[in-house]
Amino acid sequence: MLNCNFCMIVDGKLPSERVYEDDDFIAVKDIHPKAPVHVLIIPKKHYDSINDVGEHIGDVDLMGKMIIVAKRLAKKEGISASGYRMTINNGEDAGQEVDHIHMHLLGGEPLRVGF
Ligand code: AMP
Ligand code: ZN
Repeated sequence: MLNCNFCMIVDGKLPSERVYEDDDFIAVKDIHPKAPVHVLIIPKKHYDSINDVGEHIGDVDLMGKMIIVAKRLAKKEGISASGYRMTINNGEDAGQEVDHIHMHLLGGEPLRVGF
């Protein structure tokens, strides 16, 4: 989608520190990390938010896979045993800044309740 920073990251038109890629997702390091491990899992397909996700099997599978990718990356980053948080901010009250679905993977230290 035009004017979407995360679509531009997916397309390689904006620089990012990419830590993972498969057919459906990329993962990049967050530019303003809030924990020692702070990775964003970004679907290659643009959805503004969870509100745009359908209930058909394609979208349901994709959202399930996003959790599996996060699990995989937690292992790769060495935080599987110590623990991690997966966050999806949705809409204004949740503080969603980028209108392209992304899951935050956070860990590497005890996390504050609330982020
Ligand atoms: P959210 O509030 O859930 O929309 O989170 C947006 C996140 O994207 C924030 O944690 C930002 O630091 C991060 N972010 C924004 N632009 C970039 C970028 N170009 N590369 C990596 N992370 C970004
Ligand atoms: Zn996008």
